[in-house]
Amino acid sequence: MNILIVEDEKELAASMTDFLKESDYRCEAVYNYTQALGKINIYQYDCIIVDIMLPDGNGLELVRELKRNHSHSGVIIVSAKNALDDKIKGLDIGADDYLTKPFHLPELSARIKSIIRRRQFDGEQEVIFNEIHVLPDTRQVEVKEQPLELTPKEYELLLYFLSNRNRTLTREAIAEHLLGEQADMLDSFDFIYTHVKNLRKKIISAGGGDYVHTVYAIGYRFGVK
Ligand code: CA
Repeated sequence: MNILIVEDEKELAASMTDFLKESDYRCEAVYNYTQALGKINIYQYDCIIVDIMLPDGNGLELVRELKRNHSHSGVIIVSAKNALDDKIKGLDIGADDYLTKPFHLPELSARIKSIIRRRQFDGEQEVIFNEIHVLPDTRQVEVKEQPLELTPKEYELLLYFLSNRNRTLTREAIAEHLLGEQADMLDSFDFIYTHVKNLRKKIISAGGGDYVHTVYAIGYRFGVK
């Protein structure tokens, strides 16, 4: 999961980043409107946390920009002002949630979880695909009711496949999903190949079906053949 934090209070940005990284999110922070705009025009994020008062602009404008671009990112607005009209304006223009500072970090992480779940799986607590069951809140995976041990990358890959069933995913899209902007620095897709191969092998050895299909020269598709 890729998360972008837009927050000019560097200490707060750092504590949010550290906290979310511990929960296995990939997280980057930027400190102003211009940097944020640059990021959202290039990268896809699962969730963006936006402070309203930025030194060079208004966070609500970023939300508008995301909506203009038909972005699929979840958006949480964070503001020091407990102003009701900011809150309403934010939700009106398409933010998913709103947090007033100061807030507890576990609260932020709970909101992110619920947004991602809502967006990816229509709010389901459990993602079921034939004999594969995933509980995104606890990151547990079962195949035929037996727990399946996955590395964090394999787990993310599985969720990505499950939320894009029967769709061809390019190697580039998978790399960006798993690595965020570090994907630009990959000099080959061996990394993707290895994770895909291991995930497929683990599902099959646990008695699951062979759902990962190679789409020649493009990428992969997850689904029943
Ligand atoms: Ca601020």
